[in-house]
Amino acid sequence: MIGVIKEIKVKTALSLSKLPGLDYALNPYRGCEHACIYCYAPSVIHWDKGEWGKLVEVKVNLPRILSKELRLKKKGVVGLGTVTDPYQPAEKKYEITRRCLGLLLMNDFPVCIQTKSSLVLRDIDLLKKFSNLEVGITLTSHDDNVRQKLEPGASSVEERLHALSELSKNGIKTWVFMGPVMPYITDVEPLIGAISLVKPDYVLVDKLRMKEGVRDSVLGFINEFYPLLTEKYENIFSGEENYFVEILDDIKKSCESKNGAKYILYH
Ligand code: SF4
Repeated sequence: MIGVIKEIKVKTALSLSKLPGLDYALNPYRGCEHACIYCYAPSVIHWDKGEWGKLVEVKVNLPRILSKELRLKKKGVVGLGTVTDPYQPAEKKYEITRRCLGLLLMNDFPVCIQTKSSLVLRDIDLLKKFSNLEVGITLTSHDDNVRQKLEPGASSVEERLHALSELSKNGIKTWVFMGPVMPYITDVEPLIGAISLVKPDYVLVDKLRMKEGVRDSVLGFINEFYPLLTEKYENIFSGEENYFVEILDDIKKSCESKNGAKYILYH
């Protein structure tokens, strides 16, 4: 589904992260082919290069810059893919994420990866060798027809569940990012049932964020695929309907009733 891939050079690799549990952020790509309809990365990176998902910039010199920085920086947890997905399709060819992982391993930096792609399994040989690493995989619905509409460029639900299972079998700590929970669309019970079978170490739950740019994209999506929900979503966006208090409580109970799936609400 991709439009254009552009190779770019950067001057820095690691940036300080304010995300909980992370010290640094490392993002091998600008732009993201997964093209999720609720993505708020464009507002985070001030994207002004056209429709999100149609252009991906590949930071081709990132491993070289990272290699220098790792010699100078204080050791800390590196979030790999804090803004855009480190295992999006361009990674198959460019292997920037893989090369960065090799460097982080060599320097024994702790790493936290978040992705919606089963391509992460390609790097299991490296992931297994880290003394401190975890992989989070996002799931927003158990129904792959819904997933295709929400996250058209990302791996299928089945592929992601398989990836979680394989990572766990290989002794790698895993977690599920269940978010954003899409009001009236995310199928909580079957999704948590499927998640509990692949036994992640924990489940991080996040509501739909009303960030700049997200409103129009989500409402456009709802109008196209779920027109009967338009009014409800408008109410949620205007703050008139507090959908999340109830649904987050349901998720918490559902997680507690399944063996081993610890629930953490993302703030
Ligand atoms: S995978 Fe993440 S960065 Fe990529 S489009 Fe989806 S939400 Fe945005």
